Amino acid sequence: MPTKYIFLTGGVVSSVGKGVTAAAIGRLLKERGFKVAVQKLDPYINVDPGTMSPYQHGEVYILDDGAETDLDLGHYERFIDIRLNRVCNVTTGQVYAEVIGKERRGDYLGGTIQIIPHITNEIKRRIGMVAKSTGAEIVLVEIGGTVGDIESLPFLEAVRQLRTDMGRENTLYIHVTWLPYIGATAELKTKPTQHSVRELRSIGITPDMIVARSDYPVEDSLREKIALFCDVEKRAVVPMVTTPVLYEVPLLIEQAGVADYVMARLGLTARLQPDWTEWKHLVAEVRRPKPKVKVALVGKYVELHDAYISVHEALKHAALNLGVELDLSWIHSAELEKGKNLEALKSAQGIVVPGGFGSRGIEGKIQAARLARTQKIPYLGLCLGMQLMVVEFARWALGDEDANSTEFDRTTTLPVIDLMPEQNQITDLGGTMRLGLYPCQLQPGTIAARAYGQELVEERHRHRFEFNNEYREILAEHGLRYSGLSPDGRLVEIAELADHPFMLGTQFHPEFLSRPNRPHPLFLAFMAAVCRQAGLESYLETASAQILPGDGKAQPAGME
Ligand code: GLN
Repeated sequence: MPTKYIFLTGGVVSSVGKGVTAAAIGRLLKERGFKVAVQKLDPYINVDPGTMSPYQHGEVYILDDGAETDLDLGHYERFIDIRLNRVCNVTTGQVYAEVIGKERRGDYLGGTIQIIPHITNEIKRRIGMVAKSTGAEIVLVEIGGTVGDIESLPFLEAVRQLRTDMGRENTLYIHVTWLPYIGATAELKTKPTQHSVRELRSIGITPDMIVARSDYPVEDSLREKIALFCDVEKRAVVPMVTTPVLYEVPLLIEQAGVADYVMARLGLTARLQPDWTEWKHLVAEVRRPKPKVKVALVGKYVELHDAYISVHEALKHAALNLGVELDLSWIHSAELEKGKNLEALKSAQGIVVPGGFGSRGIEGKIQAARLARTQKIPYLGLCLGMQLMVVEFARWALGDEDANSTEFDRTTTLPVIDLMPEQNQITDLGGTMRLGLYPCQLQPGTIAARAYGQELVEERHRHRFEFNNEYREILAEHGLRYSGLSPDGRLVEIAELADHPFMLGTQFHPEFLSRPNRPHPLFLAFMAAVCRQAGLESYLETASAQILPGDGKAQPAGME
């Protein structure tokens, strides 16, 4: 069968969940037995979001091949339970860099390089690479931004051309819009949707389906109105009311008949009967009142929760699996340095220090690690969180507060975390870290090994600095254990404390491999320790899923 393409554009405003919609539709099609991939086209000029501040962009999501991508890729992977690759995130910067590179090499000798056809052809080439590199039969392509933005015009023009190139029966356009609610008259308005569809038509794209996002229920008459004014079939107008349960979106889209319509338009017949039992159970579990556990996330971008979206999701997956409710408090590490928010931290039953860069708030995170160690509060350190756990431990074990990472103090006398030798010569900041999947050998008898229940795992990385091997022996003498190492034994991948209920840090980012129905083993082990800290041990024993670290039952997760 020829590859089928579904293009998603946004209208009216951004941030209405276009990424989640794309991910959910992908899931619907996977449930019907198709191999699906999703690609995000981002109109900004950066080559990738790797050099952008999380305040600008939210989290940078890392793929197996080390691509630094948009956080929507995280939605795609989590909802559809797939692993994507670097062609699945294209930016204007990449497209121009490629075309200008070719021009300099003389590939277009004699020609004038223009947006149409050179830039649009390069965009189309990159869209075509998704099916080739993933083997997907259906490719969903989400175009970032909203219709009307100057930046996204070349992308829209490229996907417009694809209908002619690929044929009507192989392409489908879905426009995701927003229905504003006017309080004074208590009604939802369709006018902005009509305008954005008109805008889309003016560049030659006629949407086949409109997903109308709204905070309020959408009446049938409104659907009819949208269908009439926007010239789509009524059954192709899909109201999607905001739900507090993110993982309910596929179920809602299924109920609205989206898959049936999409399949009919693309001439597809389902190979499998979709089975939503597990998802329904998942959503029911989210809704069920459960005992709360309090976890503190100590970071420096906590004002913007999107900056830690995968960590937050991974914690939720683990809590859900254990039948408890995650009560997450977001603690700014720079505030801790000023002596603020200490109470919230002390009252937490678990502390997470996620990844990060730069010196702001570092001492606050070290304080959090100190509290976790001395008060025996379960601690999970992710990348920077692992490095700072080691710094704190070294300051205590070596009795010298000068211990540090050379990222924050170049002249420290005790550089327990230091630049990897291969990083010393690098001057460019973009795309030059240790990125992507690397193997990690687990050391028998450790918390990490028990949690994984496996000897060798592969996890996603994004860092420049490493545990300094000169300090391995001395820190081990004081009770630091290296529970995960690179197979050649050279790099410390996981460190944990011997004399602590659960204090563990990973040099990699396990959060990227957690799935709603398959929590990551380390998050699960951490959350089980949090439950024990909260006095929920007996509850866990009676709950439907009880997986405690150390009982050997934890299933390997996140790795298909
Ligand atoms: N800044 C640290 C490093 O580069 C940690 C990076 C991270 O947390 N992802 O090694």
